[in-house]
Amino acid sequence: MHCKNCGKEVDVTAIACTGCGCVPSNGTKFCSNCGAETKPGQIVCLKCGVALGNITTSPPASTGDKSRVTAALLGIFLGGIGAHQFYLGHSTSGLIRLGIGIVGLCIMLPAASIIGLIEGIIYLTKSDEEFQRVYVVGGKEWF
Ligand SMILES: [Zn+2]
Ligand SMILES: [Zn+2]
Repeated sequence: MHCKNCGKEVDVTAIACTGCGCVPSNGTKFCSNCGAETKPGQIVCLKCGVALGNITTSPPASTGDKSRVTAALLGIFLGGIGAHQFYLGHSTSGLIRLGIGIVGLCIMLPAASIIGLIEGIIYLTKSDEEFQRVYVVGGKEWF
């Protein structure tokens, strides 16, 4: 390569240019590929067409940027189905959570139904007077 500071040909692995003593890849005055003179604002060498690497382009649009708050809220409210994992792109983990969530629902729903069934049966075994006293007036919520 050529020193970008003085244009002298230097070894690619050279830490300092033997011509000017600068870091060869740090300059903006010469093309590192062919040694042609370049202007500081130039981004492509006019002689060999290579990109000069002086480009101060903004970093690529942060497409993968995820909001921590959104992830947290998803975790809090929809964590049971792994929503926050899907949001963060952890689809495998998300699928596992979703699976657990669905299995959980499949267990909980029948369980809740069974509890309701049991409660219904218990209500039927009570006398009207006892039912009113325990569940309506007494406010008993479970069984
Ligand atoms: Zn140099
Ligand atoms: Zn060049």
